[in-house]
Amino acid sequence: MAGTQQPEVNIGLVGHVDHGKTTLVQALSGSWTDQHSEEMKRGISIRLGYADATFRECPDRDEPERYTVEEECPDGTESKPLRTVSFVDAPGHETLMATMLSGASLMDGAVLVVSANEPVPQPQTEEHLMALDIIGIENIVIAQNKIDLVDSDQARRNYEQIQEFVEGTVAEDAPVVPVSAGQEVNMDLLIQAVEEEIPTPERDPDADARMHVARSFDINKPGTTASDLAGGVLGGSLVKGELESDQEIEIRPGREVEEGGQTEYVPIETTIRSLQAGGETVDSATPGGLLGVGTGLDPALTKGDALAGRMAGPPGSLPPTWQQFTMDVDLLERVVGTDGGEVEEISTGEPLMMTVGTATTVGAVTSAREGECEVNLKRPVTADPGAKIAINRRIGARWRLIGLGTLQE
Ligand code: GDP
Ligand code: MG
Repeated sequence: MAGTQQPEVNIGLVGHVDHGKTTLVQALSGSWTDQHSEEMKRGISIRLGYADATFRECPDRDEPERYTVEEECPDGTESKPLRTVSFVDAPGHETLMATMLSGASLMDGAVLVVSANEPVPQPQTEEHLMALDIIGIENIVIAQNKIDLVDSDQARRNYEQIQEFVEGTVAEDAPVVPVSAGQEVNMDLLIQAVEEEIPTPERDPDADARMHVARSFDINKPGTTASDLAGGVLGGSLVKGELESDQEIEIRPGREVEEGGQTEYVPIETTIRSLQAGGETVDSATPGGLLGVGTGLDPALTKGDALAGRMAGPPGSLPPTWQQFTMDVDLLERVVGTDGGEVEEISTGEPLMMTVGTATTVGAVTSAREGECEVNLKRPVTADPGAKIAINRRIGARWRLIGLGTLQE
């Protein structure tokens, strides 16, 4: 595992549970994204896990063999770093679609992992591709994984099923790369495909910084005395601009305040005390990868993901906060996943769960018309007009993706 380079692009790992997302990230980065003990227990990634990988090349070798993550080439010379990418290992479990969607808002591209030894599509293969379609992620590579478990006929049939499945979707032209993450077969081909299909987006260096907060923590051990307390920490990704140590930031919607039985949200201002990017302490950070921001906030405010779903940026630069909004609505034809029936029109009074950026909020529909609806939110969200909203409806025991909203002015 090499490189002190900051990651410059976020790549989502999506696909059905057990198809090999975490194994693939591990093969490319040498780190295991399932870090939380609870995840280990359940065997699924319940939180977004980030892992950085530095892609390198051996200039004297042909394609695709020149691509590697090793620091040393087979002839003993040192390989040359190309760029560092950050993989966001999204959960595959079906009840966690909202987490997947909140991660998708931070993805510049995606690798869709499809197991070669199962019929295509499995439920979350379909659901995740739909999500990529909805969020508008067009730079996609399909990893046809576990080819060590099938013979060439099975591999070809599976390949045909994949092609048929992606027809007419955002992944229609995506390359399908046969790999074995477990045996580390064809990793060079996969790196080449990612280098070609998922370029680092152009960033405006003068833009105001905009961070989507996906997590927040209290990093102090229990019993730490007040004078030794480290300030609250925010985890997430920059989508534009640059953050610097010692800079003032504002966080919106901010923190929940109870007043006379009413809950209000008050914007928070604080100073950045430390920055972590690509696992290193840095003076400034740019988009790409997971960012840890140490702040001057009381850690009680950031404990247990209390500020997840917020936006942060220079004071005065953030978009509006909405307690209610009107959105244009594009409904899917059918509910995604197994036994998905037709999607019925949204009706006044019904509850919806909406994901906007990294924020997930529940709201009641106050007025539904053809092609648009107005919702009253339990918890407000900070978002730009035009922001995309994943709309979920409760069907049976769980929230199911039913369409895409666009926030109106
Ligand atoms: P995830 O749920 O998509 O993250 O899947 P995991 O990476 O946790 O993999 C699920 C199971 O498949 C694990 O037991 C892996 O060891 C196994 N696995 C992953 N990739 C391969 C592969 O290429 N070949 C084989 N034979 N097994 C694999
Ligand atoms: Mg996993």
